[in-house]
Amino acid sequence: GPVRSHPKDQLELRDIFIAVKTTRKYHKSRLDLLFQTWVSRAKEQTFIFTDGEDKELRKKAGDNVINTNCSAAHTRQALCCKMSVEYDKFIESQKKWFCHVDDDNYVILPSLLRLLSSYSHTQDVYLGRPSLDHPIEAAERVKSDGSTSVKFWFATGGAGFCISRGLALKMSPWASLGNFISTAEKIRLPDDCTIGYIIEALLEVPMTHTRLFHSHLENLQRLPSDTVLRQVTLSYGGYENRRNVVSIGGAFSLAEDPSRFKTVHCLLYAETEWCPRKKHH
Ligand code: UDP
Ligand code: MN
Repeated sequence: GPVRSHPKDQLELRDIFIAVKTTRKYHKSRLDLLFQTWVSRAKEQTFIFTDGEDKELRKKAGDNVINTNCSAAHTRQALCCKMSVEYDKFIESQKKWFCHVDDDNYVILPSLLRLLSSYSHTQDVYLGRPSLDHPIEAAERVKSDGSTSVKFWFATGGAGFCISRGLALKMSPWASLGNFISTAEKIRLPDDCTIGYIIEALLEVPMTHTRLFHSHLENLQRLPSDTVLRQVTLSYGGYENRRNVVSIGGAFSLAEDPSRFKTVHCLLYAETEWCPRKKHH
């Protein structure tokens, strides 16, 4: 008959460390929506990485807010600084999986749990959505004479990605403490590319490509409505493209819920107190 895994081997939500990258100016406009929706269902394991103290946020999330003391600039150095703190906090946490998302992502927790359950955290797993349809080619600076070229895949940070603890531990020489920043400087590429560089180019572990993670770089309207709740992450268009949102109908109009995150949340958790009650006939 089928082999049933022992309950103690079954992955639980509390085994997953979810890092949300944000910045002081988005605490109100972006983070509030996340706290109202998916973060409310994963309070213990979701950690907010930001760059400025905020008493209100601290009241809401306590020690799960990490002030990285990284610069609030949108520069490679500042973003790599945040990623390096995310990595260190994950290692400290003893959790089985590290997942990174941006503050404009909705995490569909049941889907994330289902996806990670099909892999082992003790093996080398790097899961994400490639941001290009080909591997990136980077110039690797070496001390002695100029540079050599390397090709590798990387998961786009804006769609979220996950790394098993087994693999994360192997990344330590290039990712822990200050090392992540020096590694990023070597290839002069952003934080998410640097993760791909460490895993694919230095450790030679291939990335597992998945289409279940979504950033607003893709056309989100094209995602079939009946598949939205089975995805792992969602996003929404920024200022330049407000219409780039998933097409899903439900409790709220586009005007009431421009990101569609509240609508998705009420479809997943209808019992939520602010979700409109189903009318009884
Ligand atoms: N971000 C940051 N510092 C900044 C600007 C943005 O940490 O100075 C974060 C932001 O909170 C988000 C991510 O970087 O989690 C991506 O930012 P955004 O969505 O504004 O830009 P995108 O690259 O997606 O267009
Ligand atoms: Mn974004």
